[in-house]
Amino acid sequence: AEESNMIVAVRVRPLNAAECTRANVHNVVQVHRHNELTVQAGSSADASAGVSHYFSYDQVYYSCDPDRRNYADQLAVFAGTAQPLIDTAFEGYNACLFAYGQTGSGKSYSMMGIEGLDDAALDGRAPHVEAGIIPRFCHELFRRIDAVKQQLQVEVEVSYFEIYNEKIHDLLSVQAMTNVPETPVQRQALKVREHPIFGPYVVDLSAHSVDSYSALRNWLAVGNSQRATASTAMNDKSSRSHSIFNIVLNLTDLSSDTESSDTDSGTVSLRQTRRSKISLVDLAGSERINVSGSNGERIREGVSINKSLLTLGKVIAALADSRKPVGSSTPHTFVPYRESVLTWLLRVSTKQISKHFYLFLLSDLVNLTRLIFVIQNNRKMFNSIYVSMSLQENLGGNSKTVMLATISPASLHADETLATLRYACKARSIVNRVKVNESPHD
Ligand code: ADP
Ligand code: MG
Repeated sequence: AEESNMIVAVRVRPLNAAECTRANVHNVVQVHRHNELTVQAGSSADASAGVSHYFSYDQVYYSCDPDRRNYADQLAVFAGTAQPLIDTAFEGYNACLFAYGQTGSGKSYSMMGIEGLDDAALDGRAPHVEAGIIPRFCHELFRRIDAVKQQLQVEVEVSYFEIYNEKIHDLLSVQAMTNVPETPVQRQALKVREHPIFGPYVVDLSAHSVDSYSALRNWLAVGNSQRATASTAMNDKSSRSHSIFNIVLNLTDLSSDTESSDTDSGTVSLRQTRRSKISLVDLAGSERINVSGSNGERIREGVSINKSLLTLGKVIAALADSRKPVGSSTPHTFVPYRESVLTWLLRVSTKQISKHFYLFLLSDLVNLTRLIFVIQNNRKMFNSIYVSMSLQENLGGNSKTVMLATISPASLHADETLATLRYACKARSIVNRVKVNESPHD
């Protein structure tokens, strides 16, 4: 069964109180079936009034009205977008989920939710009904880990940082931990480097081992409070910064510790380790980039601020426009991953390596021949490393990317909403291209 490795979903938030009470503001978004929506553009005064725009995606979450049958709550959004990535992680593949949309459209609500971070710190307690994707993902991850403890040795490591103005700040540094919330520390910006084998990484980013959901939640709380402090200190910062929460999962198979081999050498020792990295990303508000995009000219308000977002758009466009068939030797469309910190780093979770570059991971020399990396594909949004620890395993596997585009249903945001939806379509067109190109070669 063919499965796409880029999923594009859209979520429509409710009208907020202010929008509801303004006489001329109304809902311009209608959702049809599970994956289609239409937007009525234009105020009654202009020429485009009443023009209806149709879009379709992998999934559309209608979160406007709890009384509607198709209402999608936090659990539904998690279950449809992030939960499948837990399987991806357990299979040893990387995954990335990012929320994209204008400020106020529901990115942070979707990613983090509005749970008091301390209340669910108790083990065994389910996330709050308004908890977002990140706490739900972590909770479910440890539930799954508990279920496989007998067969697998599991290590989980988290890191959490933000990108503001192309500078990286660790949200879980020792400084962050000991910091009194009211006094933002003079935080040091970290650098990105390229590791020859494992690709780009953040130098000196702290990573923390966690062995339970509650331990993980404590780190999340540290990072979130660090983020909040920084954004009150600098007005409007949260809408201009990207936050990236990484979970690295290391799984070592205990049951296959000894295994008989078919060769004359008899029994060989085998310990299989799978590693996967999941990046959960809350992007900066898309409004400035959308404005510049629709005019065809850059808005220069000191906008290295959104260089990462601009580059993400360029990467998506380059990948979507790349029409070269698999296996052809004509040059690839240039994909400017390294033009911004965000796109450079996200390539890790969904790394691009040229098809000529094969890589062996030597976790067990005896079984060297059983270890293989299949590296592939320059056209996927953030290309994938196919990693398989043995020939029998997962050769068809994938790394996965999920884009969650968040929109407001309010008429006064119709232009931003349309810009976001078009951006999401662009991202989705990458998937379709990949599907079309790959099928004849399989
Ligand atoms: P963003 O992070 O995109 O700037 P937020 O997530 O902060 O936007 O959302 C803006 C406001 O709307 C917040 O008060 C948030 O609680 C509320 N909100 C967003 N999405 C929803 C939703 N699906 N249901 C209820 N409230 C929401
Ligand atoms: Mg936000």
